[in-house]
Parts: sequence; structure tokens; C-alpha cells
Amino acid sequence: MLELKNYRTQVHNDWCPGCGDFGILSAVQMALFELKLEPHNVAIFSGIGCSGKTPHFVNTYGFHTLHGRSLPIATGAKLANTDLTVVAVGGDGDGFGIGAGHFVGTGRRNVDFTYVVFDNGVYGLTKGQASPTLPKGLKTKSMSFPSIVEGINPLATAISAGYTFVARSYALDVRHLKEILKAAILHKGSALVDVLQTCPTYNDINTKEWYSGSDLPSKAPRLYKIEDTGFDGTVKNPSDATEVNQKKSQAITRSFEWGDKIPIGIFYRNTEPTFEDMIANRMPSYKQVPLVKQDLYNRDVTPLFEELS
Ligand code: SF4
Ligand code: MG
Repeated sequence: MLELKNYRTQVHNDWCPGCGDFGILSAVQMALFELKLEPHNVAIFSGIGCSGKTPHFVNTYGFHTLHGRSLPIATGAKLANTDLTVVAVGGDGDGFGIGAGHFVGTGRRNVDFTYVVFDNGVYGLTKGQASPTLPKGLKTKSMSFPSIVEGINPLATAISAGYTFVARSYALDVRHLKEILKAAILHKGSALVDVLQTCPTYNDINTKEWYSGSDLPSKAPRLYKIEDTGFDGTVKNPSDATEVNQKKSQAITRSFEWGDKIPIGIFYRNTEPTFEDMIANRMPSYKQVPLVKQDLYNRDVTPLFEELS
């Protein structure tokens, strides 16, 4: 009988007190538990950064890879063993800086896995430099001057790249994040969950208080659930190009809403053939038995030689 504690490890956690990463870690563990995914059927991949430590804290298979390289390795694992539930985690610097090429290339493939980005606008592990998601003109406390380059929009980039599930959540709303993660994991295809994450040590602008709207005259929380406004990001007919384009463009438009009000939730969701489906079209045995379980050494290659002779 699985319990939530089965997804926890005894590894010492050295994240700063109050870090939003703790909320994301809890949500990941709760999502896996509530989906009844047995730990030995799950693999978590990370890059480098504070978030890179996550696989050490979740009792599943895990791989702490290189800077910006979690996605190709997660892709390889999923393609080799399609029975695995694959989750990649990483920071905004890891994923949208050095890993940006992989981020785009992975979306184009639509491999069935989930990518969770711990998005705090800074490179926390290396003392708070501006990351690719920090908006132009902002200066966090360890920067000498405001950033002079534009921040990227992860949701709009993901939709353009081909991710078929694109969502945003908040590290300190564990219940919401857990539900978004469950939907992302259940989705067949590449899912991006961009998690707004507080870094109390280095990001003194996008703080817990800022997200709760304490600086606003209204004192109303900045974050609101996008579906509460009647927004529906799910494509009903994937073969209808007009509907697909309309859903993509409404999602991109709403993803740029950033100020006194910031939407969270599922921005875009579509069911399209996965990379695994495309491989299986060429190699029918691929879907029947995962590559890692196929007997690759005793294959009869005579037909191949006959074809070449
Ligand atoms: Fe969290 Fe920031 Fe500390 Fe890293 S530096 S553990 S992101 S609070
Ligand atoms: Mg970061």
C-alpha cells in the first residue's frame, strides 16, 4: 500500500529556509502519490541549479545531469523505456539559458513527458544573477544595475515550439500546482509547467508578498485562475487547424498578462501524435515492447543483409 512518505528520501535538503522549491517538491511528491505511480516506474531528471537537487529528494529513479541537458537525457530515457513516467525539472537559467536549444527542440518532438521549470527570475545557486526570465529593467538585490535585456516568455516559447500542454502555476499554492502536475503527467505528449517560484534569498522583487498583492492599492492577490474567467485552452478537434491556431494565439496573448494581474492554470492543451507514435508507425514492435526489454543481441538481421545484397 503506497503512502506519501514512500516518495520522500532521507537526503539532507540544503535549500534556503522559505524557498519556494519546497512547495514544488511537495507538489511533485503528492502528484505522483495521488496518481498511484509506483516509485520504480518513475524517473526524474534535472540540470544544474538549486532545482537540480530535486531528484535527490524524491524516492524514484533520478538523474542529476549537466547544465541545460536534462531534456535530451529525459528524452532518451523515455524513448528507451516507454513504460516509464518521465519528469524533467530545472530552473529558468538552466532551461531557457544554456538549455534553450534543447527546450525548443524537445517541444518539436512531442515526446510524452513533463517538464517542470522552477522559475524565479535569477540564477539562485550562483548568487542571483539575472536569468532569462527576468524582465528588462528589473534589478534584484545582488545585481549592480538593472537588466538591459528582454526576459523571455516561457509559455509563448513553449507553444511556438510545439509543446502540447502548457501551464503555469505557483510554488506556494501547492494544491493548485499538484493538480496541474497531475494533468501534465496524464497528458500524452510534451508538457511544460512553468512554476512561479519565490527565491527569498536573491529575488527581492517577485516575493511572496508581491504575488499576494500587498503593494497594490486593492491589496488583491496578483495571481488568479485563468479558467475562472471562462478561458478554455483545450483543443476540441485537433484536426481543425483554425481551432488549433485560435487556441494557440489566445494562450500566447494571455501568457503576456503580467502586472497587477497574472493568470495561472492550463493555457494550452492539444492531443497530437507523440514522437513515440511516429516511431511506432515505422517500427510496430516499438509500442509492443519497450526498447530496453527487446532482445537487441539475438535479432535476425538476415533480411537486412538480403535487402542490401
Ligand atoms: Fe531557493 Fe533561492 Fe536559496 Fe536557491 S538561492 S535555494 S532558489 S531561496
Ligand atoms: Mg532560476
